[in-house]
Amino acid sequence: MSIRFFNTLERRVVPFEPLEEGKVGIYTCGPTVYGHSHIGNLRTFTFADVLRRYLRLRGFEVKFVMNLTDVDDRIINIARDKGITIGEVTAPFIEAFFADLATLNIEKADINPRATEHIPEMVNLVRTLLDKGYAYELDGSYYFSIGSFPDYGKLARLEDVDLKAGARLDTDRYEKDDVRDFALWKACKTGEHCWETEIGEGRPGWHLECSAMSMKYLGETFDIHLGGDDLVFPHHENEIAQSEACTGHKFARYWLHSRHLILEGRKMSRSEGNFYLLGDLLEKGYDPRAIRFLLMSTHYRRQLNFSIETLEAANASLTRLDEFVLRMQEETWSEGSDKSVAKAVERCREEFVAAMDDDLNISEALAAVFMMVRELNTAADNGKLLADDVAAALGLLRELDTVLGVARFEAPELGDEEIEELIRKRTEARTKRDFAESDRIRDLLADRGIELRDTPEGTRWRKIQN
Ligand code: AMP
Ligand code: ZN
Repeated sequence: MSIRFFNTLERRVVPFEPLEEGKVGIYTCGPTVYGHSHIGNLRTFTFADVLRRYLRLRGFEVKFVMNLTDVDDRIINIARDKGITIGEVTAPFIEAFFADLATLNIEKADINPRATEHIPEMVNLVRTLLDKGYAYELDGSYYFSIGSFPDYGKLARLEDVDLKAGARLDTDRYEKDDVRDFALWKACKTGEHCWETEIGEGRPGWHLECSAMSMKYLGETFDIHLGGDDLVFPHHENEIAQSEACTGHKFARYWLHSRHLILEGRKMSRSEGNFYLLGDLLEKGYDPRAIRFLLMSTHYRRQLNFSIETLEAANASLTRLDEFVLRMQEETWSEGSDKSVAKAVERCREEFVAAMDDDLNISEALAAVFMMVRELNTAADNGKLLADDVAAALGLLRELDTVLGVARFEAPELGDEEIEELIRKRTEARTKRDFAESDRIRDLLADRGIELRDTPEGTRWRKIQN
């Protein structure tokens, strides 16, 4: 069976067939950099990361483009109010955004186009739309005429909505009861940041930015367009209208939208003020891996109810995984393989792939991983776990973690207390003449860079450089 996605365009799960065999082009709407991204935004970007990594695991060569919206109404207003340039508004937030992605082990996009660096491409789109009769000018602004594009509304399913064709709207963000001709390009107002172009002095509308940047880097028709589901209307609807009217071809073929992260019953949102930044959670001492685990572990089309308790639960799951990896690495296993244990490892991979193929069913994919952890732990407890199966399980986890991005294969440095506790256990083992155990502890410490020296006054230790 092939990979299947829920395509918002069709409102159903459909097989994924890329335009070009073995290759996938993905565009995701990036952040609007007028402030810090909150963990709701980061949920959407974590989902995009998991999708990209999974397609790679399945053998696709992925080209991943994430734009930076570094000019929009809000950025312009902040710059005007503070008397600074839009670049000065956005620079610190762009830096912080990339730092957040790195903290969450979200891979950098192949290309991060910035809206402000694609003004000529946007102007070209406006000119083509004018030539083809889909756009008109009024007082120096340019609008897309929704009445001229019969497919308008096909993504957001606007059948029952009153289309106010001919009436205009200048704001970038609006609701379904405001379905009107939207601004492609806005005439310059006093005190605002503007560009001098062939279509006059002005600035782009938000929707136009994404059409220009996605088509530039992925072609007029490309495979997958991503975003949070609040972007379906108007942003993605407008992207489709502008792009398809311009080129006469289909724009993105698969649209995947992730549901929101909810905090105490309400969508996490900057404008509502109910949000956590990544930094807020790190300050409380949470492991970024646990945060990533939480953000990705609910299926992307389900709401994720965030709370400190759910974060604690994610942390506990991760600890279980860490302890398993550590145990596999540190205990000594006899040679050989056990049929049923080997099967458990194979089954884990099959179930993981089957679940992820099914519209990225991450919760089932994770369940398969934890089932394997349980089965191997039980086998180990019963003395049935053998070296070949351990190697296979660790190899599989490494492979699956190219998608999950949360496991830890290098043990963290031991703290002094942990070292001394292990030395105490070793001394105890030696007293009992359990030399196998005392050697195991000595080796374990050596693996972690700790050298022991037995002296008449007791065991001394020191850290050795690798
Ligand atoms: P913005 O920076 O506002 O343009 O949003 C960046 C991305 O985050 C978009 O794909 C939004 O749909 C998404 N987003 C915004 N709020 C949330 C939320 N509470 N949960 C998940 N995704 C969100
Ligand atoms: Zn966009």
